[in-house]
Amino acid sequence: MPNQGSSRKYPCENPYTTLYMIARDKLYLRFCPCHSSMVEVTDYDNIGFDELNDIFNNNEAVCNVRRKFAEGDFLGAGCPDNCNFMAAFKVSGHFFDCPEKYADSTGRYTFSRAYLSLGPDCNIRCRYCMDTDDFDVDFGSCKEQIADFIVPFVHNGGHLDLTGGEPFLPKWGFVEKLKELAVLGNSKGSIVVFTNATLLDDEACDAMLDAPVDMVLISMDTSRPELFNYLRRGSDFEHVLRNAKTLLEKRNARGKTRPIIRIACSVLKSNALHLEETIDFYLEQGFDISLNMLFKANFSPDFCERESVDAMSVEQVQEVLCQLIRCEEKWGERLYSATLKGQLENVILQKNNLLTAILTQGGDYYAKRKPGINPEIKAAVGNAKIFVSYHKDGEILESEIMQPIHVGAALSGVTLEMLRDDTGDNISAKNDRFCELTAQYWAWKNVDADYYGFMHYRRHFAFRDIPEQPELGGVVIMQRIDDAYKNYIGLHDNEIYACLKDYDIILPTPIGTSVWGTLSNEAQFSSLENLHAVEFDLVCQVINQLHPEYSDAVEEFRSGKYAYWYNMFVMRREIFHDYSAWLFSILEAVEHKVDFTYFSEQEMRTLAFMAERLLSVYLNHLQKRKPDLAIKHLKITLLKNTEKATDVLPAFESGNVPIAV
Ligand code: SF4
Ligand code: SF4
Repeated sequence: MPNQGSSRKYPCENPYTTLYMIARDKLYLRFCPCHSSMVEVTDYDNIGFDELNDIFNNNEAVCNVRRKFAEGDFLGAGCPDNCNFMAAFKVSGHFFDCPEKYADSTGRYTFSRAYLSLGPDCNIRCRYCMDTDDFDVDFGSCKEQIADFIVPFVHNGGHLDLTGGEPFLPKWGFVEKLKELAVLGNSKGSIVVFTNATLLDDEACDAMLDAPVDMVLISMDTSRPELFNYLRRGSDFEHVLRNAKTLLEKRNARGKTRPIIRIACSVLKSNALHLEETIDFYLEQGFDISLNMLFKANFSPDFCERESVDAMSVEQVQEVLCQLIRCEEKWGERLYSATLKGQLENVILQKNNLLTAILTQGGDYYAKRKPGINPEIKAAVGNAKIFVSYHKDGEILESEIMQPIHVGAALSGVTLEMLRDDTGDNISAKNDRFCELTAQYWAWKNVDADYYGFMHYRRHFAFRDIPEQPELGGVVIMQRIDDAYKNYIGLHDNEIYACLKDYDIILPTPIGTSVWGTLSNEAQFSSLENLHAVEFDLVCQVINQLHPEYSDAVEEFRSGKYAYWYNMFVMRREIFHDYSAWLFSILEAVEHKVDFTYFSEQEMRTLAFMAERLLSVYLNHLQKRKPDLAIKHLKITLLKNTEKATDVLPAFESGNVPIAV
């Protein structure tokens, strides 16, 4: 019900006091971050403080929203129920009244609080904003004139929250504006600035200390350099920490407590379990720290999919809460976590299905993955095919590049809806001996491509940098194929093209024999159950007979300590054809010399296991011939579950009874 007459009450005063600006190619204006978007200003080349105040008062759309708000039609004014002010208003009756008090004698409002987000114009490429390079972003879309209102606004009493992009990019002239405020003196307003601190040199630090800056928030989410550098791509942990410390030391040397220098830390899945370590690290050095929760809609969609609170188990969220409680006891008010604790408690309730409300904010302005194939990047690579071997149904990878292929189709009792390795010139019927190599043979003989690659139903290349370290066997264990998994490791054609571009060969990270407790590749082979030294020797002899120029590479491999496993690679056409001709000439010769009669099922696969070793021999020789080859190593994932995901549905349309077990 709209409020009536003098008894009108309001959840907040923002429509009378606050202007929230998101500068991109256009300038988006609203009253607060929760408020649904209100006004787009297309041309903002010459907008200063007075022009912004005119829009605040006279723009038709702005006035319309304010009018609805004044009438108590908050939903119509674009105020969602999950806004904190609205929730407090509804639950506890917390309210503001008399908005007229903010008007001057002519009925005009002047915004005294401003938020300015300087868009995607940033000098680094954090995964928060752009999880991959494959996003639709114009990094220079903001017009620098939007920063011109800062000096008159702050000097006359306005309070500004300034966020990036990066406010210290030279294009905004922010350091000069701070100096101007310092020279003017007696500013009635203040500034809170969010920065990635990469550009905080002595001049910027001094300018902030001289100007009316109340708080500097520095984005750092972990005390672990490796994770920081992964999350904040293009930044460097040591450099940023040094800059942050310089600001702190300069402030302390002046005997000041302002500005507050606060580390702004987002709680993510990847930092959640060492949150206490992070909090202690920064607070021990004299910084303050504030924590906030990453919700699904806060940043770039892929990143949120895997790092937001939605991706955490209830146990992980509980662990974060325990760490937070311990740290609050230890550090008191220097740990600013007022909203986080309540949010965590709500998330736990939500995950236990005891709460249905979902708090999401923002999200509309973050970069989105480009649809379709990027023709430029594809043209730079050509026709790439990566064959993914399957011998049974399951969750299938398929795209223009990723081609599922049924290996051993000639021997199989099932029919899979995909390519088969038993057409054309093929060795499908030898799949019990050659395993996934029947796909390689088929591609070699039957497919014309610029790049040929191979992955398996449960082992994939991570085409994107992932922070996890491989386990024994050189693989990163993952759960199953779903959208989050594909996004995480870059199983999208554009990312694969981007990865192939400029490389001749993609290989797994080589695996050291020492992880198996053996001192050489030869010893490692025969130490494995079901593999025998005699076949290893035989293969080496055959190479020496058929391809004597490889004898050095054979010897180096025998005593060497690293090998490429899994018969996984991507190669340029000419290399792939050369390798395949070489490999199959050896394997076919060996096949005729081995008596498979009494071999177990595993022993039958000796040739495929040997092929893994042969790839290393071939590459050793190739690199000597062509030292300029561009080779890239990628991590390999291993899936725990390859079954098709099924939707769990209630047994009956009605009358279902939930039972907790
Ligand atoms: S969304 Fe909330 S904070 Fe924003 S104007 Fe509406 S009630 Fe106020
Ligand atoms: S998160 Fe901040 S610092 Fe990082 S790229 Fe985005 S705007 Fe720049």
